[in-house]
Amino acid sequence: MDSTSPKLKTKTVGIIGAGIAGLSCAKTLAQAGYIVEVFDKGRNLSGRMATRRNDFSEFDHGAQYFTTTDPDFKKEAAGWIGVGVAQLWSPRISVLGDPGPVKATTSHAKRFANWVSANIAQLRSPNTTNVERFVGVPKMTTPAALMARGLSVNLNTTIGSVFIRPQSYPRWSLKSKENGVIKGSFNIVIAAIPAPQAVELFKEVSPALTTIAQDIKMSGSWAVMLNFNEKIDLKFDAAFVNKGPLRWIARNSSKPERGGHEAWVLHATSEWSESHIDASAEEAAQLLIKEFLALGGSPPDQYQAHLWRYAEATPPLDMTFAWDKENNLGMCADWLNQGKVEGAWLSGRRLAENIIQSLSDRDPLKNYYSV
Ligand SMILES: Cc1cc2nc3c(=O)[nH]c(=O)nc-3n(C[C@H](O)[C@H](O)[C@H](O)COP(=O)(O)OP(=O)(O)OC[C@H]3O[C@@H](n4cnc5c(N)ncnc54)[C@H](O)[C@@H]3O)c2cc1C
Repeated sequence: MDSTSPKLKTKTVGIIGAGIAGLSCAKTLAQAGYIVEVFDKGRNLSGRMATRRNDFSEFDHGAQYFTTTDPDFKKEAAGWIGVGVAQLWSPRISVLGDPGPVKATTSHAKRFANWVSANIAQLRSPNTTNVERFVGVPKMTTPAALMARGLSVNLNTTIGSVFIRPQSYPRWSLKSKENGVIKGSFNIVIAAIPAPQAVELFKEVSPALTTIAQDIKMSGSWAVMLNFNEKIDLKFDAAFVNKGPLRWIARNSSKPERGGHEAWVLHATSEWSESHIDASAEEAAQLLIKEFLALGGSPPDQYQAHLWRYAEATPPLDMTFAWDKENNLGMCADWLNQGKVEGAWLSGRRLAENIIQSLSDRDPLKNYYSV
């Protein structure tokens, strides 16, 4: 047991990030009696598992669906389905194009190429039939809303620094860009946010966590939302695109409980998005719509582009979570656990479980990464 644990009488935890990882961690800790407060800079919770409503329709412009392999996550997803916030989505899926050989020029590109090679079979011919794909209903954010029920979640609150106030107890204080120093303080602070943002928060207070996060490259992803006044003539509802700037296209309206409106989402590859990171939304939309037309799509009646600045770790780690036991600071997120919604949820859950156990007389962290 680490030397700071006996002091943790009030067990207050500040969690930065109300995405799937942060909420999964928060819920598990709250159920174990911790006093948890969650902060998110967004207007809505759920992070990259997102749905955007604009003037024409509603689009899942981030995570498209989630899959379940781990027994704990399967159980959680079954609970979501049971209360009606998630459903199976069974689109007609195509695979378009061949990615060709993977080239590597820089050392990061080599790491990326190794990761792609390891997944190449799946990238070239993704399992389009035997995979169960689930979506939030009626939108992607509903599972997060369910997890957040009963928790104290502060939206529109961008945490800019984590610091120690002299002679304060509990030890950690947070400062937000909108409201200054947050009232109250915390024994434990957890960053459940993309790696570059975690570096900004922990660089002054946890060299160990900073070292882990600063090694991660997170690539952007352009998403384009297309609205059509009439149904378009494509014989599939979704396609993995293995050639050119696009990597995924999907008929959003084929998901359950989305209403009848014909709406599509296009996602660009991380390489294309990174090379167009400074493009305007209009420019990115025009270029990607051209690609959609080349795949047999029709010109949209309305469209809107969105840049996910930190869409995915290329590649992610399989560390599950990171815990700085000297300082009671932690990180959980998809980039620590293989990317994706399931990885994020498990990262938060496992970090919480190990915090709970670390305050007992056992030493459960020894099998996990702790610094
Ligand atoms: C375009 C795209 C497509 C995807 N498709 C899929 C898919 O089909 N299937 C799948 O499983 N996964 C997919 N993913 C990945 C999936 O969305 C993520 O793995 C998962 O949602 C990550 O959850 P998280 O909690 O780790 O992080 P996030 O969802 O990013 O949550 C982090 C939260 O922290 C907040 N935040 C950041 N910094 C601060 C700060 N300083 N102060 C306060 N709040 C802060 C953010 O606002 C955000 O809400 C996709 C992602 C993208 C972008």
